[in-house]
Amino acid sequence: MSPEPRLLEVRKNVLKQNDIVARALRDRFHREGTSAISLVSSPGAGKTTLLEKALTLLQPHYRVAALVGDLATENDARRLARSGAPVKQITTGTLCHLDAGMVERALEDWDVGKLDLLFVENVGNLVCPASYDLGEDLRLVLLSVTEGEDKPLKYPTIFNSADVAVITKIDLAAAVEFDEHSVQANIQAVRPGMRVVQVSARTGEGMDTFLRFMIEQAARLQKGVCADTGAL
Ligand code: MG
Ligand code: ZN
Repeated sequence: MSPEPRLLEVRKNVLKQNDIVARALRDRFHREGTSAISLVSSPGAGKTTLLEKALTLLQPHYRVAALVGDLATENDARRLARSGAPVKQITTGTLCHLDAGMVERALEDWDVGKLDLLFVENVGNLVCPASYDLGEDLRLVLLSVTEGEDKPLKYPTIFNSADVAVITKIDLAAAVEFDEHSVQANIQAVRPGMRVVQVSARTGEGMDTFLRFMIEQAARLQKGVCADTGAL
């Protein structure tokens, strides 16, 4: 007998168990009025750079924190901590994605109810993070202008699992002859109606729109969060 069906069965059960934990996390975030936002992308698309900028700009006005997943090193947590926000690194060892249990364990000694926004940066990977619900309210998929415009066509599942596409490093668009129309068309082909935001964490271009959108998300969940982002 071929072993494949059994392996598939095990994998299905792992995913089912993840969904149970993710659902409990989401309920907890809603109960506590915390907006959880995750970031997925291939390695090097600029998740940490965007997050450091976002945390730095939000931190004086909102209660923000971040979890960051990598196979190894605490480098990203150290970078993000420069923002002044609470940050925790999740090292996954050989695992190429975060799962809901890792998020739950990382939050064990944190008072989630004291946060307006919790960011979760996934391991750089466009494949399996698509299958793992982390209990987040909003999933951002990042795509940098230095990647191929056909990424959405090659990795449709991750674009389908995400809520918003964020095009990063737009300050480099001209230099790399980034074809915005083509990438927009490819995103809409795999996920019709998907919202697309363009940012450069380096120059700050598009950060206003991006942050306003994050705050609106948090304000929808928590009455105490003011949707007026004029102070930012
Ligand atoms: Mg990173
Ligand atoms: Zn994986």
